[in-house]
Amino acid sequence: METTGQTDNNNRVINYLRLSITDRCNLSCMYCMPVDGIDFIPHENILRYEEILHLVRLTVGKGIRKIRLTGGEPLVRKGFLGFLKELSHVEGLNEITLTTNGVLLKDLAAGIKECGVNRINISLDSLKRERFARITGRDMFDQVWEGIEEAELLGFDPIKINVVAMKGVNDDEIRDFARLTVARPYHVRFIEHMPVGDNNRWNADSFISVLEIYNIIETMGKLTSVSGRSLLDGPAQRFKLEGAKGEIGLIGALSNHFCGICNRLRLTADGHIRSCLFSDEEIDVKSALRNGEGDERILDMIDTAIKNKPLSHNLNKAGPRNCARRMSAIGG
Ligand code: SAM
Repeated sequence: METTGQTDNNNRVINYLRLSITDRCNLSCMYCMPVDGIDFIPHENILRYEEILHLVRLTVGKGIRKIRLTGGEPLVRKGFLGFLKELSHVEGLNEITLTTNGVLLKDLAAGIKECGVNRINISLDSLKRERFARITGRDMFDQVWEGIEEAELLGFDPIKINVVAMKGVNDDEIRDFARLTVARPYHVRFIEHMPVGDNNRWNADSFISVLEIYNIIETMGKLTSVSGRSLLDGPAQRFKLEGAKGEIGLIGALSNHFCGICNRLRLTADGHIRSCLFSDEEIDVKSALRNGEGDERILDMIDTAIKNKPLSHNLNKAGPRNCARRMSAIGG
């Protein structure tokens, strides 16, 4: 169990950085990035790779041991593999993982693996080609599926498939996704739809809780709980259907929140440190870096972000509410 790192004011060890390297994406998922009306962050405000690497080294100095690359879609950023190679040489990092929509994965998977990345999360909300196109705004199911198969062929382990479950959109596929874990060694993780960003289409009618999802899957056969191996494994409650090659994970960010074990910090594509996905409080390290304020000052800022990490997201207290930044800009 990875327990090293700096503790926040609530005694949580913070050792995991989610790093958004771009807010651009080649899909426009209905709950994340609608096709029209998006203002991307201007290029000059996006951290350059060398700036990211510098900030990563500083966060490692403050106890970060694991990084997840995300976005936007991380694989669309030019020079991704070169950056990943440099990142993989940062001393003190134990693990680099990646969350991708899989569209460009087939061609990049081998290069990603060569950089030492072994664990990969691929987002896929439907196994039906037409529905996939409706949800994402692009007819690219085949590319994603080929990317998943390539990852399997290359031995990525585990391959996690993230499914945002929504009533009336894809809840009729919960059993199909669960069946996929019987035939393939994938970890399918059902994620509750979260009210992040100003255009997430969250509403109570389409919300389906992890408990409801569990109840559906439970009718399919014996479900055994799989105990977590490490705190770095994250917040999913994990289960296995009898005889399955893969696993099922349930991530109840709303109904079952895991703030008490949250070990995450986020660095947005435009260089802001954010210690809670749902809190709009951010610390602008990019300006400090570009104004030449020096590493000591930036280390202090990282320290403040860690110490002041909110105890809980409080989303359920007064009913769900939006946080202002889009998921693609924060880094999901
Ligand atoms: N482009 C990459 C991808 O598609 O995986 C990485 C970024 S994406 C923002 C990361 C994850 O956040 C995806 O699994 C996506 O489904 C999830 N996500 C985005 N908006 C969400 C929301 N409102 N509620 C729950 N999950 C969301």
